Amino acid sequence: MPINLETPKKFNQLISQAHQVAAEILRPNSRKYDTLEHEYPKELDMLAAAIDGLNEGGALAGAGAGAVGTNGSSPATKQKTDEGANRNGSNMASLVGLIEMCWGDVGLLLAMPRQGLGQAAIAAVANEEQLQRFGGKWAAMAITEPEAGSDSAAIRTTATLDEATGDYILNGEKIFVTSGDRAELIVVWATLDRSQGRAAIKSFVVERDNPGLKLDRLEHKLGIRASDTANFVLQDCRVPKENLLGSPEIAPKGGFSGVMQTFDNTRPLVAGMAIGVARACLEDTRDHLQSAGIEIDYNVLGGRDPSQSAAAAEFIAMEADWEAARLLTLQAAWMADNKKPNSLQASMAKAKAGRMGTEIALRCVALCGATGFGEGELMEKWARDAKILDLFEGTQQIQLLIIARQLLGKTSAELK
Ligand SMILES: Cc1cc2nc3c(=O)[nH]c(=O)nc-3n(C[C@H](O)[C@H](O)[C@H](O)COP(=O)(O)OP(=O)(O)OC[C@H]3O[C@@H](n4cnc5c(N)ncnc54)[C@H](O)[C@@H]3O)c2cc1C
Repeated sequence: MPINLETPKKFNQLISQAHQVAAEILRPNSRKYDTLEHEYPKELDMLAAAIDGLNEGGALAGAGAGAVGTNGSSPATKQKTDEGANRNGSNMASLVGLIEMCWGDVGLLLAMPRQGLGQAAIAAVANEEQLQRFGGKWAAMAITEPEAGSDSAAIRTTATLDEATGDYILNGEKIFVTSGDRAELIVVWATLDRSQGRAAIKSFVVERDNPGLKLDRLEHKLGIRASDTANFVLQDCRVPKENLLGSPEIAPKGGFSGVMQTFDNTRPLVAGMAIGVARACLEDTRDHLQSAGIEIDYNVLGGRDPSQSAAAAEFIAMEADWEAARLLTLQAAWMADNKKPNSLQASMAKAKAGRMGTEIALRCVALCGATGFGEGELMEKWARDAKILDLFEGTQQIQLLIIARQLLGKTSAELK
């Protein structure tokens, strides 16, 4: 089944609508909510309602609120695949929509109501009943703890079953939860039994207004300031046992792989965010170079011809880097749509696009000089926003580690 590198025609309408939203709503509010960090971007409420309506008609599925980060055509449905057929489904739709929205603004995209990577966690491991119950809700994902960042197997938050009531009681601390203040649900990773290691780690859906979930503080950040980042304490936080996603069994093999499947869904999306921001940087830089009288001539490769400006040669090299990241990311999403295991490709896409996004944004600032650095334009903000995409959902170094393990056939114990 060959991969077709053209953007699927059926997504043209979605892409153009997402682009319009990005240009007319996200970009004009970019600077405002970067400056007003922690202020709720109320313009997005109206937009989310409009997108919900469009999603029902199918027009914006993927770019819209509920669809991003899910494994199915809606958060409440798992995808059906025709055996043998080549398909571009909701993973590809989410990706191409996200790229456009992040060309507009990554922080605002992350702040969009009913958006949220928590839905990817739900889609990865939930059963049908849970998909129905939690689908379409704004869900954040809480994995990171003070003592567990890159090494998510080290988490200490505990979940203890109270046999009398049938509730799980969660205790621990979660930090850096994107949309943690505003989401309706928080998907919390906790261990059923620390002595049994990663197999005992499960995810639990906690309602945001659960009295056992206490907001500790909101973070001030370098970039994506429109997106709230919350720290929580879980203190005897009771959730019904039906809120444990997937199976409560501690299976020595594969227990952790259930929750880890979340990343196969989310990493290509984060890569897509980097592709969107980097494209914004490249487009503005092209305009600046042209207005400075620098011609970008694709017939003169590598800047070897002295008539080609060094800035133009650098620009062409950046475009090639961007295209490489885009193709890797499309591949990861295409594999997910076609039910092919994509952990390796998801990490490759995230590693390549995360680094590309950060490097291109900073190089574009440099090429545009004072204009790139000043707050009169958005380039300096994009450079700040891009950095997180090489950090959350697994840092650059962690992606390289995962890729190396897979290529060398090593376990996490063998290659740390
Ligand atoms: C704005 C923001 C939003 C976030 N949103 C969420 C969210 O919604 N949910 C959530 O659960 N988390 C979230 N995070 C947390 C994020 O996923 C973690 O910060 C990230 O996983 C890194 O963990 P850490 O900060 O503890 O760094 P550490 O794990 O302490 O790593 C520090 C450095 O060491 C490197 N390193 C660590 N281990 C290795 C190794 N074995 N080999 C080589 N290098 C290594 C890392 O790459 C990094 O450069 C968010 C973070 C930020 C900043």
